[in-house]
Amino acid sequence: MKIVLLGPPGAGKGTQGVRLSKTQMIPQISTGDMLRKAVSDGTALGKEVQSIIRDGKLVPDELIVSIIEERIAQEDCREGFILDGFPRTIEQAKALERVMPESVDVTVYLNVPAGEVIERLSGRLTCRECGAVYPKQDISVCPACSGALYQREDDQRSTIEHRINVYMEHTAPLVEFYRERNKLVEIDGLGEPDEVSDRIEAGISEVMSQ
Ligand code: AMP
Repeated sequence: MKIVLLGPPGAGKGTQGVRLSKTQMIPQISTGDMLRKAVSDGTALGKEVQSIIRDGKLVPDELIVSIIEERIAQEDCREGFILDGFPRTIEQAKALERVMPESVDVTVYLNVPAGEVIERLSGRLTCRECGAVYPKQDISVCPACSGALYQREDDQRSTIEHRINVYMEHTAPLVEFYRERNKLVEIDGLGEPDEVSDRIEAGISEVMSQ
């Protein structure tokens, strides 16, 4: 099963990707997590993308496509995978069709209004170790893995607006791209994570039984 998670920043792709990875028993592949790891490890890739991520811009298509191509060729992706944060442009979606022999099975579009997204992004902390996100409160350590929680540099209000604009211009057109291919399941991303998970599981079952 090859699943793409689509939706604006803060829609819950990461949270739902981790849950789906457990129920479907396939890996979650987050390009954002991979790039942030490269930055914190100080690799050549990390140095190249550091300022792009900080400013909320997109890293070049060829670069991210080659990262994904290499990742999905690995053994643990044989039974499928969940893409979180990729594709982010029509060009990336077309490249995915070129590099993958069979196409994506289902694209889950998490629909969350822009106002809610701004609230979520500016009010969240992220775990440095596992990437889990939590609403800002009096905790500094990840309840799941004990990693340190921090506010992502691109979760500052000034950058958030830019990221939403980038999403509207470059990524939102992918909703129609996948709808035309009959691969889209649109999910209301508002509500508790459990409720959203239930909607996603039901939506995927429906698409797969068609
Ligand atoms: P995310 O964690 O998905 O919000 O991604 C964080 C940042 O990583 C984005 O704002 C981009 O700078 C970069 N990034 C992640 N995935 C992609 C992608 N598919 N294409 C281009 N840039 C990406």
